[in-house]
Amino acid sequence: MVCSTYIHIPFCKKICSYCDFCKVFYNKKIVNKYLKALEKEIISTYENEYQKTIYIGGGTPSSLSQEELKILFNIIDKLNKDKNTEITFECNFDSITKEKLDLLKSKNVNRISFGLETTNKTISDKINRDLDLSYVKSIINYCKKIGLTNINIDLMYGFKNTTLEDLKKDIEFILELEVPHISTYSLEIHENTRFYIEKENRIDEDLDRKMYDYIHTVLEKNNYNHYEISNFCKKGYESKHNNCYWKNEFYYGFGVGASSYLNNKRITNSRSITAYLNNEISKEIDEVTKKDKMIYELILGLRLKDGVSIKEFEEKYNISIYEAFKIDELINKKLIIIENNRVKVPFDKWYILNSILIEFLEVNYE
Ligand code: SF4
Repeated sequence: MVCSTYIHIPFCKKICSYCDFCKVFYNKKIVNKYLKALEKEIISTYENEYQKTIYIGGGTPSSLSQEELKILFNIIDKLNKDKNTEITFECNFDSITKEKLDLLKSKNVNRISFGLETTNKTISDKINRDLDLSYVKSIINYCKKIGLTNINIDLMYGFKNTTLEDLKKDIEFILELEVPHISTYSLEIHENTRFYIEKENRIDEDLDRKMYDYIHTVLEKNNYNHYEISNFCKKGYESKHNNCYWKNEFYYGFGVGASSYLNNKRITNSRSITAYLNNEISKEIDEVTKKDKMIYELILGLRLKDGVSIKEFEEKYNISIYEAFKIDELINKKLIIIENNRVKVPFDKWYILNSILIEFLEVNYE
């Protein structure tokens, strides 16, 4: 059963220096063509299953004009959904307006995710993003006023020459916004980005670790549950859509560069916008074996504070977790713990989660 859909809108008003997502500059001339290709892809693939979650991400979906958004929502109306469907829409403050928020609300969007990333003008200039903190406040207030209260803010940290003090100011500002969900990411320098080409550095590991711990401590103190390694929320505001990824469930991915996980296949659309516009989507297809599936269940589930249920794993795969994997070695090293019949990574090891997962894969993929 496929009950989640991701829709990729690749257009951005500006290109951030660190970004390796699939994106292009907003260009009015190609948006309509893109939306037509998107509609065609959805019609040819989607099998009318009820959707628990729909996530419109990018790129910057809010870069579309009012008219283009109406076309997009006419396409989304083809999906089988109801008032309980979580519909998330990603926005940037450089392109969202009160009028667009009214439209989103009228189209039953009930979760908004904003890329803020920094409150520091020097950093925002360096990463090529616009910053107007009073506009940020007025947009968040407006969301709340019209009942769009399920709001996420993305924060990025770890930029070269930043200090713990800078991070404290970012967090202070975000806490004042009183939003129920916060996602935080440490800067990574990816190939094919401006930062990579310019050989930009990031902060050192020690400071990065201090920042990770600081974020955890201050947000938990303010009643945000650190429910996933990069995500925090007030009670009841976990992202249902992302939870579908972490729980290793099937999902559709529509749009250029989007990935689907359907019928034991991971299918990734090519990142060529030209090919997509011409309806020549080349797809990379990877078969997922039962063993792969069980491995995914663990490596995705271990990102969650609650980890993976031993009982649910056995019910789903007809094999006990202990039989399926060699985990004793990791348990002996206290990299993984068993608590309340769940397999988890203890919080003091979250910072090294990636190396734990590599060790887990090395032990279990011979
Ligand atoms: S980070 Fe977001 S807004 Fe910036 S270029 Fe990438 S997709 Fe566009």
